Amino acid sequence: MNALAGTTRNFKRAAQLLCLDAKLEKSLLIDAIQGDQGGHDNARGPMKGGIRYHPEVDPDEVNALAQLMTWKTAVANIPYGGAKGGIGCDPADLTVSELERLTRVFTQKIHDLIGVQTDVPAPDMGTNAQTMAWMLDEYSKFHGYSAAVVTGKPIDLGGSLGRDAATGRGMLFATEALLNEHGKSISGQRFVIQVHISYTYRNVHFRPPIEWDSGMLVPGQHSLSAKWVCGKIVAASDITGAIKNKNGLDIASLLEHVKENRGVKGFSAADAIDPNSILVEDCDVLIPAALGGVINKENASGIKAKYIIKAANHPTDPEADEILKKKGAVILLDIYANSGGVTVCYFEWVQDAKEMCRTHNCDLRMGAFTLRVSRVARATLLRGWEA
Ligand code: GLU
Repeated sequence: MNALAGTTRNFKRAAQLLCLDAKLEKSLLIDAIQGDQGGHDNARGPMKGGIRYHPEVDPDEVNALAQLMTWKTAVANIPYGGAKGGIGCDPADLTVSELERLTRVFTQKIHDLIGVQTDVPAPDMGTNAQTMAWMLDEYSKFHGYSAAVVTGKPIDLGGSLGRDAATGRGMLFATEALLNEHGKSISGQRFVIQVHISYTYRNVHFRPPIEWDSGMLVPGQHSLSAKWVCGKIVAASDITGAIKNKNGLDIASLLEHVKENRGVKGFSAADAIDPNSILVEDCDVLIPAALGGVINKENASGIKAKYIIKAANHPTDPEADEILKKKGAVILLDIYANSGGVTVCYFEWVQDAKEMCRTHNCDLRMGAFTLRVSRVARATLLRGWEA
């Protein structure tokens, strides 16, 4: 398998070929673009952006996404610039230990380009908290332990509560604000959602009281209650397939199904539909929350939704934008609609940096590390050390 690794952090130097350990059954080749310049922009602070593992990643895509991060952090008004990184691979094809090795080798290539005050990676499509744990661990071998060098980490390694669900949660708040502006509310709208993971379903369908946020955002630690039921999701899709029920999907059961089957495919209380046609299903609010470019001149004129919430990064191409505008659709920009993830990453980064100052400046250093044994053990495993 050939894997192309591009990062606008490293954009300018010539490509360099790197062969991973031949012990891997599939010999992984990473064509890492090296460069003398950081990410897209750092005028407002350290460059910030996710690391994407997806077959369609290439340097142009990474560069475009880095630019989006610059505008996103500016719109969210958090003191960051923009960057992005990625590897052209299909994480579903790799074992956990292959993913770990890939991540560690990638980190070895970019370790001197990232840093707490320069460029701070986070999860993106195909990567997660565990990926960040490996990056943190590998980075620490070169520069010493530095929790704030990546965000979106596991809680046990200094991650922030709610980070996993933050992008979907922020998208919900943005959608609600838009609808309210138009004299409407989430309740009563019919939604069509194209996602990769299930948080978005929960966020649109269940609207918990704000004060309950920090508790409910830890997956599995909350129960769903009828009083939070709001939007009606009439069709949904993810990488496994697409389903539809014009009376509204039963989201609590769907979430159970997704948990057991790793996707919406096979959900019995709905009809299976062609995943390519989900975007043109009849609805009031369309939420493309998966890949870029899914709405284009081929399908834009068929879209029926009045409101389009760009939860994915650039899900519409410029031609589609024109078509949709002419149809009178109201489009919520991605750099606003999906800025919840990087915003919570900012909180995490600030908390980690504060913790670092505190532990380094006070003589209670040992005290700060008196974590329960189970916590230490979890952190050890997450970093990929021998248990
Ligand atoms: N990958 C997320 C995004 O595109 C988060 C990036 C970050 O926190 O740096 O917004």
